[in-house]
Amino acid sequence: MKIIMLGAPGAGKGTQAKMIAAKYDIPHISTGDIFRANIKNGTELGKKAKEYMDKGLLVPDELVVDLVIDRFKEDDCKNGYVLDGFPRTIPQAEALDAALSAMGDKMDYAINVEVPDENIINRMSGRRACVGCGATYHIKYNAPKTEGKCDTCGADLILRDDDKPETVINRLNVYHEQTQPLIDYYTNKGIIAEVDGTQDMNDVFNAIVSILGE
Ligand code: ADP
Ligand code: ADP
Ligand code: ZN
Repeated sequence: MKIIMLGAPGAGKGTQAKMIAAKYDIPHISTGDIFRANIKNGTELGKKAKEYMDKGLLVPDELVVDLVIDRFKEDDCKNGYVLDGFPRTIPQAEALDAALSAMGDKMDYAINVEVPDENIINRMSGRRACVGCGATYHIKYNAPKTEGKCDTCGADLILRDDDKPETVINRLNVYHEQTQPLIDYYTNKGIIAEVDGTQDMNDVFNAIVSILGE
């Protein structure tokens, strides 16, 4: 099963993608996580990506597309995968479709997690990310057992620089301009599924499972 997660920054794509990956036993491929790992390791790609990410802008398509296409050709993706944070532009979606059709393959579902802009700032300012393993928490809606520490690996939890309100506003504008058109794109392909992302995370997940099947 091959799935794309769509939605504004903070809509809950990562949270749901992790739950999907665990239930259906497929890899979770997050371009944001890949970039953050590159930044942490000081790679050339990380240096380039950081310039854009810090401003709330998208990393240029040419730095993203091959990275993802190479990743889903790996062995662990043979039963499918869930893409989180990719595609984010029409050219990325077209490159993805071209790569899949060259392999005689196609995407199965694009799940749009709907959350209005007014809820997003709240979600982002409360989001905390683990510096060790990348796990995501929310100070109110998904609090760690010990404040400021990751449940899984014990490392510190931080507020991402790009989750500060001034950057979130840029990211929302970028989302509306460049990423939201993908909803029409996948509607036209007949693979869009909409879920209400304002519900409790378990209810969002149940709605997704009812689309994907048990
Ligand atoms: P969020 O969890 O808020 O949706 P991500 O972790 O997916 O954010 O992405 C963080 C940042 O990484 C984005 O703001 C953007 O700068 C960059 N990025 C991630 N994926 C892509 C992509 N497919 N195309 C361009 N930039 C990307
Ligand atoms: P995205 O990957 O779309 O940027 P995340 O999955 O990282 O979004 O979620 C953004 C923040 O909102 C995180 O702090 C997360 O714990 C929290 N969150 C995710 N889903 C929900 C939900 N259904 N209700 C409340 N908070 C949520
Ligand atoms: Zn951790």
